[in-house]
Order: sequence, then structure tokens, then C-alpha cells
Amino acid sequence: MNKEALQRTIETSMAHYWSTSRKKIWLKGESSGHIQRVDEILVDCDMDAIILKVEQKGGACHTGHYSCFYRRLIPPKKLENIGRKVFNPEEIYRG
Ligand SMILES: [Zn+2]
Repeated sequence: MNKEALQRTIETSMAHYWSTSRKKIWLKGESSGHIQRVDEILVDCDMDAIILKVEQKGGACHTGHYSCFYRRLIPPKKLENIGRKVFNPEEIYRG
């Protein structure tokens, strides 16, 4: 998220992000419909990190999971899947 993305997020209460690959601001869910309606924006002590508390429509992750954080690390290097898929990414992102 850059400054403009944050500004649009504040103005619309919908999460916007800066896409480094497309080099433009994008509304999360603009193609999938899986938008994030922002309930709260938390700001850290140094004012250099924020957390968005959102109401997630569908799934946030391009893999089809509700959240990108669907795996837990079991040290030293095992990953355990603790998430759930809420949509089929091949149906959403084809073509
Ligand atoms: Zn993800």
C-alpha cells in the first residue's frame, strides 16, 4: 500500500493497494468481487505500519483461501495447512 492507496482506502472504506507488477492502484476484488470493506485501520507506534481490519467477501488469497496466512510453520521447516479454501481460483482467474 502506498500513500495514494491508503487515501483511497480511507475515502471509500474499501481496501486499495499498489500493484508493483501492474504499477497502478487497484481495488482489492475489482476483478474477483472479493472486496475488503474496512472496519478499522490500526497504526503502529512509529507510524510506519498499519493493519486493516476488514470484512472479507469471498477469499483474500489468489490461491482460493480465505486468508493468505493459511499455513503455520512448525519449526524448523514444516508447513501445516490450517486454512480453508473458499473459492476455486481457476474459475475466478482464468483467461
Ligand atoms: Zn495470498
